Parts: sequence; structure tokens; C-alpha cells
Amino acid sequence: MRVLVGLVAIGAIISATSPADARPQRRTTKHQDQKSKKRAARIHTLREHTRVELRELARGQSVGAPWAGRLQHATELPSGDGYHIRHPWRAFGTQTTIELTLRAIDQTLEAFPDQHVLAIGDISAESGGRITEHHSHQSGRDIDVGLFYLDKPAGYPATFIHATEDNLDCAATFKLLESFLATADDDGGVLMIFLDFDVQGILYDWARDQGISERRLDRIFQYPHGRDSSDGIVRHEPNHDNHMHVRFTCPSTDSGCH
Ligand SMILES: [Zn+2]
Repeated sequence: MRVLVGLVAIGAIISATSPADARPQRRTTKHQDQKSKKRAARIHTLREHTRVELRELARGQSVGAPWAGRLQHATELPSGDGYHIRHPWRAFGTQTTIELTLRAIDQTLEAFPDQHVLAIGDISAESGGRITEHHSHQSGRDIDVGLFYLDKPAGYPATFIHATEDNLDCAATFKLLESFLATADDDGGVLMIFLDFDVQGILYDWARDQGISERRLDRIFQYPHGRDSSDGIVRHEPNHDNHMHVRFTCPSTDSGCH
């Protein structure tokens, strides 16, 4: 991300300086004219070069599988309003992971502008690979995302908090879940979301009470079909009762991941 921002900054400097030189109404000598033409050509080359580099950086980031892989030319999740990055040294992913995550958070906060800050857990280390406390999170396509509560619990967002029927803000959390699920249509969009079976049940019951059809809920949740069933995109995983773990598919630009 730092590299990307740097390149974008170069682009901004280029575009900030070039139009002034190219203005036709400026009175110039022939010599100056040639000079500015040369400069324009150089700038054009640099801009093309930057564009190619940006494209190269965006592809081939995720290598291997989420549980046996690594990350290269990582994109860093930038800090921003509305969410708290718990471990900045593990906030690296593919560009797709970062962009789609930011979009999902944006969509949720737009619908729930007064919502408390959202805790963001681990994505991957800057070069990916194995990190403590996780089996996966190796190739920049897994992200742990906190939940929303009726009242921001003590200790949150520095830590994840166990969700119960009494503390979970189902409306905001369901919106967050849906916003991630909506990325399924994008290249590199959501593949699976891991969430404790009982917490799925809390959200499922709430959504059904809101009039959301069982057919639609069946496509989303594994609940109520059992912890081992292969229904739904949201699946049970132990130790996931205080956050959701979102896994993105390997983008078509990344030929080295699966
Ligand atoms: Zn996780």
C-alpha cells in the first residue's frame, strides 16, 4: 500500500505540474517549446511506466492457499474512520481483499451512521505465511472482522467480544454480513464466512422475524441444518463466536493462488 500510495503520489505530482507547461496561450520561445515537448514526452513515458507498475503490483499478490501460502506486493489496510485495526502489523492483504472489505464497511456505516467503531482483526503479515493463533490467514485473503453490539462492550474494539442474544446488534451485524456477501459477484469476492453456529442462529432468527424469507436465509446461513452441513456461505467454525472470518476467492489476476 505504501508503494501504491507513493506511485499514486508521483502520478499526482506529474498531473499537477504538466498541464501548466502545456498551456497553448503561454508565450514561449521556440527553444522553450521544444523543451516542454521533451518534458511532456518524458512525463508521458513515466506515467505509462507507473500505470504498468500499478497493474503489475495488483496481480500475483496472493500465492498458494489460505492455509499454505504467502503474500507478495501486499496492500495494507489503511486506517480510517469507523474501524479500528487491532494489529497493524497483520493488516496486509491483496488489493481485492482490502478494497472489498472497505466497500463492505462503508456500505454498513452508511446504513448505520451512528454505529460504534468496528474492530478489525488479523488479515495477513506483510509477506504472508504462517502467523500465531491462526491456521489460515497466510495468503492475504482471510480477514477477521468484529461484530456490532447494542452497547459498545468494555474492551471492544481492542479485543473481540463474545456475542449473545442480549448484546448483539443484529440489524447492524446482519447488514455487515450482507455487505460482505454482496461482493460474491465481484472478481475475488467473498468465498466463505466463518461464524459460530449459535451466533448464526441469533442472526437467522432475527432476520426471519424481520420478514426475510427462509429461502434467502438458507442461501446465507448453514444454520439450522447443523454444524457439519454444507448449506449456506456462512459456516460454523470453533472460536468464531466473537468475530466473523471472511475468506475471499483467488482473483483471476492472481494466477498463483487457489
Ligand atoms: Zn480468522
